[in-house]
Amino acid sequence: MGVRRWGAMLLDELEKRVPAECIQADADVILAYSQDRAVFEGAGAAAILVMPRSTAEVVAAVEAANAAGVPIVPRGAGTGLTGAANAVDGCLMLSMHRMNAILDIDTTNRTCRVQPGVINSDLKAAVAEHGLFYPPDPASVEISSIGGNVATNAGGLCCVKYGVTRDYVMGLEVVLADGRVMRTGRRTIKSTTGLDLTGLFVGSEGVLGIITEITLKLVPAPPPPATAVAYFDTLEPAGNAIVEIFRQGHEPSLMEIVDQTSLRQVEAVYPMDLDVDAACLLLMQTSGDRADERIAEISAICTAHGATFVYHVDDPHEGDMLIEVRRKVWPAFEHLGKALLPEDVAVPRNRLPELLAGITEIADRNRVLLPTIGHAGDGNMHPLLVFDATDADEVARVRVAFAEIVELALALDGTIAGEHGVGTLKKQFIEDELDPIQLEVQRSVRSLFDPNGRLNPGKAL
Ligand SMILES: Cc1cc2nc3c(=O)[nH]c(=O)nc-3n(C[C@H](O)[C@H](O)[C@H](O)COP(=O)(O)OP(=O)(O)OC[C@H]3O[C@@H](n4cnc5c(N)ncnc54)[C@H](O)[C@@H]3O)c2cc1C
Repeated sequence: MGVRRWGAMLLDELEKRVPAECIQADADVILAYSQDRAVFEGAGAAAILVMPRSTAEVVAAVEAANAAGVPIVPRGAGTGLTGAANAVDGCLMLSMHRMNAILDIDTTNRTCRVQPGVINSDLKAAVAEHGLFYPPDPASVEISSIGGNVATNAGGLCCVKYGVTRDYVMGLEVVLADGRVMRTGRRTIKSTTGLDLTGLFVGSEGVLGIITEITLKLVPAPPPPATAVAYFDTLEPAGNAIVEIFRQGHEPSLMEIVDQTSLRQVEAVYPMDLDVDAACLLLMQTSGDRADERIAEISAICTAHGATFVYHVDDPHEGDMLIEVRRKVWPAFEHLGKALLPEDVAVPRNRLPELLAGITEIADRNRVLLPTIGHAGDGNMHPLLVFDATDADEVARVRVAFAEIVELALALDGTIAGEHGVGTLKKQFIEDELDPIQLEVQRSVRSLFDPNGRLNPGKAL
């Protein structure tokens, strides 16, 4: 049966259950909601777009999809970088963006309950009014949804101290593949009751159920951070300085690296007097008790490891201006008008120098433009492949370099996906990381939740 026929059946089933204002059958609108931001990953042709406003409407949409026998692809804000939210042929696209209410902020228990479509930065701003902090801060903080962040277990700049999304998810409401509504988790600090199904859903990329409500842990808002920058002539001492900072027991709240290619591009587009001859720039912050003393100690470690220039400040405004270099890397490369394919691998911190050296070697050998930025404190690097997508030869070399970086990370005891998830982009590598037994168990869990294979088929596992 063709996509159009599936679409007619689905529309019929939806109209019996879901208010008309939630259903969108216009092909152009459906197309706009059918693709995330992954570069190479194609999207299928979705049959219909549904934009629910409540859990009951999600249930109704799931029941309609089941009655019509079509797959369902949940979507948050579509900022994913792996094709995980891309449509599959004949699917019901379920965009959660209208379920964007902050349901409550509990200042005594330091928790909040939100719908999945809340944008991360809106939640941060709302809890800040109560002196609280929601730490997970993907660079897409202004545009990605909490539901998407939970479904990808998003990371970010301050994870090095505060952890990733997983560390803040206390409970969920989920619509299962058969339309039942399940609540997981707890509202207490502690609980030892039953299996951790909440944890199972974090990072599940829409293949286990549709998240309709999230209970999150909050922490007291930290005082403004102190900030340091350190330039190095070569990458290796920078990697060694990072390792030493942690070995000495420091706990930076941010530790980012920007390589020479990135420094040069940022300086070319947004002149800010950067040292473009340096091999890399380390950006570091400390927050909390004795932040100013800690940043001075960290700076001294960088100097002892051969940093050519080190500067640290207590003033948060000046610190923010220093961190701006990192934020400008992506927009600076966008100025080239080329395709940008970000890698997302992570290694144990002590293997970072080897990862950085290996990435440089891969770039040179494959003749690709490969600036590298990343969350150095987490060992999570984002080499950014910049290329002309119309040049077949260059695209072929980019694909080789991409795969080689993944294999390099694995060889260094790392992971193929640090924080962006697997989607379709990294699916080909999953067997290289997960042993066959674990993969079999994971696939069994998936089919237990979704025996008919309706939820986001072809993604993640
Ligand atoms: C400029 C830029 C910078 C970025 N920086 C970072 C970064 O620093 N760290 C990082 O981790 N990521 C980063 N990302 C990637 C992306 O923003 C994250 O993966 C984010 O968590 C995706 O959220 P989203 O709302 O856009 O989800 P989508 O892209 O819409 O969906 C992502 C996945 O979640 C599933 N999903 C969404 N909502 C639900 C739901 N309610 N129930 C079940 N499944 C659901 C989808 O099916 C899909 O599998 C960046 C992206 C961009 C464009």
